[in-house]
Amino acid sequence: MKSLKEEIKGLDMEKIKEKASLLSSTIKTEPVDEKKYHCHKCKDDEWIIKKNEDDREYAVPCECRKERAAERLMRSSRITPEFQSKRFNNFVQEGRPYQVVEALKAACNYVRDLDDKNIPKGGIALLGRPGCGKTHLLMAIANYLLALGTQVIYFPFVEGFNEIKANLDSLETRIYQLQQADVLYIDDLFKGRKEITDFVIEQTFAIINYRYLEKKPILISSEKTIAGLCEIDEGIGSRINEMCRDYRVILQGGIELNYRLQQEAP
Ligand SMILES: [Zn+2]
Repeated sequence: MKSLKEEIKGLDMEKIKEKASLLSSTIKTEPVDEKKYHCHKCKDDEWIIKKNEDDREYAVPCECRKERAAERLMRSSRITPEFQSKRFNNFVQEGRPYQVVEALKAACNYVRDLDDKNIPKGGIALLGRPGCGKTHLLMAIANYLLALGTQVIYFPFVEGFNEIKANLDSLETRIYQLQQADVLYIDDLFKGRKEITDFVIEQTFAIINYRYLEKKPILISSEKTIAGLCEIDEGIGSRINEMCRDYRVILQGGIELNYRLQQEAP
């Protein structure tokens, strides 16, 4: 019998690491020693080596490259699989109040108004009552843009700030990412039962002000109106008002706007 030490010595650690990563990334019932590639043409290298007439090697991008880039873009957006399914064509508009239909129209027009790099020319804000489909519509915009190869970062306000507070070491990096993204989607701005702290206001201002000065588009949903946003911080509210001047829908009205409650009613 070999001792454990001897046995370990005889193993190729690189192969073991490779198998371990395969194990965690493939379904457990599949054989682990058969290496699985998403793309067999380039073995996930995204480049294919070819030779020219005088036998010199050169690399050409594989056809899977675009698809992989789209996947990376989707992963970095932090949009969950549930939200990836929110599209324009599965937004229910039949029987909804006209304000909701107006919001849908604004969202559709918004994605028709892109520059030559497929980046929106300004911001869009859907404000007002909960349950009107604001998140669905802005998700539809985000998914549409991602499919065109535009970088979108999704920032759910409450969860996003909880995460920032739990990782203060990376505060600067995170704020920088949110400032720089081609498109930033802030969901449920200033939501929360608790009072909004100076820290949250300062960081939100840093993001909004940077994007305002650099003319970088934002997608914003909030239960607050522009006046409500200004009450919390005038600098933030007034900049959002200006950034989203062409696409700003305020969903006012009673409980009849709330689709979720309608669905639950007997
Ligand atoms: Zn490939």
